[in-house]
Amino acid sequence: MAFAGRRRALWRMATDGLRVAGEASVASGRSTIHNMTIARQFSAVDTRRHVVVIGAGAVGSATAIEALRAGLRVTVVEPDEPGGTQATSYGNAGWLSSHSVVPPALPGAWRKVPGWLADPLGPLALRWRYLPRATPWLLRYLASGWTEARVQRTANALRTLLADAPTLHALLAAEAGMPQLIEQRGLLHAYRSRSEFDADALGWRVRGRVGIRWEEWDEDELRRREPDLDLRYTLGIFVPEAGHCRNPGAYVAALARHALAIGARRVAARAVGFRIDGGRLRAVHTEAGDIACDAAVICAGARSAALAAAAGSPVPLESERGYHVVVEDAVVGPRMPVMVADGKLIAHWMDGGLRAAGQVEIGGLEAAPDWRRAEILHRHLQSMFPRLAQVAPDAPSVKRWLGHRPSMPDGLPCIGPARATTDIVLAFGHGHVGLCGSARTGRLVAQLLAGAVPEIALAPFDPQRFG
Ligand SMILES: Cc1cc2nc3c(=O)[nH]c(=O)nc-3n(C[C@H](O)[C@H](O)[C@H](O)COP(=O)(O)OP(=O)(O)OC[C@H]3O[C@@H](n4cnc5c(N)ncnc54)[C@H](O)[C@@H]3O)c2cc1C
Repeated sequence: MAFAGRRRALWRMATDGLRVAGEASVASGRSTIHNMTIARQFSAVDTRRHVVVIGAGAVGSATAIEALRAGLRVTVVEPDEPGGTQATSYGNAGWLSSHSVVPPALPGAWRKVPGWLADPLGPLALRWRYLPRATPWLLRYLASGWTEARVQRTANALRTLLADAPTLHALLAAEAGMPQLIEQRGLLHAYRSRSEFDADALGWRVRGRVGIRWEEWDEDELRRREPDLDLRYTLGIFVPEAGHCRNPGAYVAALARHALAIGARRVAARAVGFRIDGGRLRAVHTEAGDIACDAAVICAGARSAALAAAAGSPVPLESERGYHVVVEDAVVGPRMPVMVADGKLIAHWMDGGLRAAGQVEIGGLEAAPDWRRAEILHRHLQSMFPRLAQVAPDAPSVKRWLGHRPSMPDGLPCIGPARATTDIVLAFGHGHVGLCGSARTGRLVAQLLAGAVPEIALAPFDPQRFG
């Protein structure tokens, strides 16, 4: 009881007292790398705890490693191969974009809704049949980006989570024996014109206020740096601090392997619920039986909602479905990972070929893929790099994938204790930045589980913020 009380007090400190410190660190534009060593004061009681980590995507795998580092006993429950195609962490664009602090919905986004509905092949789409179910989430999503002040609040919080992400991932990848997977060479945004960039001005203004810096490349510079990019792009915005991952699936698999190598146990099963007695977690129910434990972390990505509800914390988690295509035999492409403003997609060399990732489709977890959306990406990729061989979208060398971004309507993940018991921690809902944000999330969860003070303020990520 005394332990639970102490953890609650620590949680309050983290959510209230540290907020100012977290924001100050953002305002200074400096990252929180100096906090990496903060408060590793784990008590003997904490470190004997047995923690079940549910889900081994980027978030779960990083969490397992950090929990082991904190001296906890760890069992990873994951029914599929860690880093496999079922995980959103497998097929993303690999951006470690510490500057991706602006939520997708911005002021005036509501005006675009009719257009989304009318254009099934644009970068954003809603499936009509799913609309009644998605409406409450969509209304919250639009409301959270209603004013610049709200967008700024989100950005302030996200910055604390994402700052230093490339460095944190480089450290993790090196520890897992795959340092070559993380590159820290900056990321590029390409615009067709100054006026197209000006239309994004709010987002860049908000980024500037949290200390993000970028370089502007004029047409000549852009051409010099990206000679194969189509001539319609005339302005480049280069963010030097950002990085990327050359193979997110292999990276997550390596992290999961590393967790096992340093002491985690793996149970290949699906978690389905919890046994909670007197406010304490006693076991995680899985399809293969119960696992007795002292704590659990829900890191099941877009499939976390039912588990969160079982832990007393129903949350408005929605899938923002996204797609990728990989052109395996491509020989022309970008020199660095690039996002283009007109197609809202990211093109990037991966170990397996040239990948284009993007699209947002609201249609739920169960609807079949609409591969036309992957074809849009493919067509756009070919138009970005006209010297790319013009192969058919169904050519054997073109691989396609659908994934589910685990998205909260306010653009912020849930990181914090469940309502039913502080023994269960929620760690999901990272939306568009889950690969990037996974490294610090793992550290934060381990700090909570071990009874240490979290290194950033967690109030903005409180799972209870939706009431
Ligand atoms: C097209 C696209 C592009 C993207 N680009 C980027 C990018 O460039 N940078 C970035 O940072 N983010 C990007 N994202 C978002 C990012 O991929 C996700 O936010 C992130 O992968 C979520 O990681 P996760 O570990 O929470 O979930 P997942 O990777 O989905 O992992 C969840 C795991 O939980 C397991 N699981 C599910 N249910 C259960 C259960 N009941 N019991 C046990 N295990 C369970 C699953 O099998 C899975 O392995 C992109 C997403 C998409 C779709």
